[in-house]
Amino acid sequence: MALVNEYFLRLSNNYLFADIAKKVKAFQISHPKQRVISLGIGDVTQPLCPAVIEAMHKAVDEMAVKATFRGYGPERGYDFLREAIVKNDFLPRGIHLDPNEIFINDGAKSDTGNIQELVRWDNSVGVTDPIYPVYIDSNVMIGRAGKMENGKWSNVTYFPCTAENNFVPSLPDQRVDMIYLCYPNNPTGTVLSKDELRKWVNYAIRNDAIIFYDAAYEAYIQEDDIPHSIYEIKGARKVAIEFHSYSKTAGFTGVRCGYTVVPKELTAVTLSGERVELNHLWDRRQCTKFNGTSYISQRAAEAIYTPEGKKQIKETIDYYMGNAKIMHDELTRMGFKVYGGVNAPYLWVKTPNNVPSWKFFEQLLYGTAVVCTPGVGFGPSGEGYFRLTAFGDRDDCKEAMRRIAGWVSM
Ligand SMILES: *Cc1c(COP(=O)(O)O)cnc(C)c1O
Repeated sequence: MALVNEYFLRLSNNYLFADIAKKVKAFQISHPKQRVISLGIGDVTQPLCPAVIEAMHKAVDEMAVKATFRGYGPERGYDFLREAIVKNDFLPRGIHLDPNEIFINDGAKSDTGNIQELVRWDNSVGVTDPIYPVYIDSNVMIGRAGKMENGKWSNVTYFPCTAENNFVPSLPDQRVDMIYLCYPNNPTGTVLSKDELRKWVNYAIRNDAIIFYDAAYEAYIQEDDIPHSIYEIKGARKVAIEFHSYSKTAGFTGVRCGYTVVPKELTAVTLSGERVELNHLWDRRQCTKFNGTSYISQRAAEAIYTPEGKKQIKETIDYYMGNAKIMHDELTRMGFKVYGGVNAPYLWVKTPNNVPSWKFFEQLLYGTAVVCTPGVGFGPSGEGYFRLTAFGDRDDCKEAMRRIAGWVSM
């Protein structure tokens, strides 16, 4: 008899976006003439840029010829891409990485979910709240998160991020071994300054903790003095693993490619006190469970580091950030309290009169046929907020703002 991993049964059955889709479908059936505009799910809408398309075509042609055909690639990723990453994403910021500290992945979701395998099941976990659900759920699956009690996992420390603390989480007052940070943040769209991030790095150094730093939205940072990488902070190489993704940077949500940085200086300890390099363990893990990202995807990623590629992906990011600005300005004018949207493609908005997130979601849907994401879906501190994404079309974005303006003035 095979016994099931019962920790999986502790996960909530419903996936946030499936719940939303069901409610939107019910609305559509009862309102067939209304066109729904979704500012909900965090997926990009603009096509891949020409430099990427050209590189992919070329890679496909190479695969068609015996002399240039490629089979299994190196598990860590091809040198051409890891070298381009070191040279373009880190060197200009004064960060010197060895290409062997870079692991190409098939997107950041896999690695942010898998990375917790490197440490024992009985470490304590801390997360900012609200949060991208992958970090907690991957810990639930192996039994590290404990039980769900009153909307929170019993073995997880939550660092609330709300308007009251200006979305700057406070350091924990109890020991936490593993800390997940995501900046620019999904869902709140807020950022940490270098000084604020430095406090977390110093906490991790003092407490021998590890920070898992998700930088998936790094390319959206517009303001100076906002760190693009945690390694801009002194000492971070000893305590942090960083995740990058081309999904939001270059529209790769359907192509699948990103990378994870595991510095050689980063160690964790055995019960007998011996220090072990996590770079080596992650390499060992990847060689066993991962067979690499496709050659075509890696050539596509390499192309965004060419001068044309850089220019083209910036145009698309500017387009999305133009949407964010329109929404930020319009909603503020209508009297909403709006956060984020300046260094990230997400706006985090307070519901009027503290209406609960799901209730506001329904009111907005039935009042305007616009879909938002209820904040509470990202954690208890998200209650009373909703998220809008800037990844849509400009015209839809403007139309949604017109509808909401008409609705709130009624
Ligand atoms: C979209 C997103 C990612 C990237 O996921 P991929 O698997 O690379 O597509 C990672 N982290 C966060 C917080 C995200 O929102």
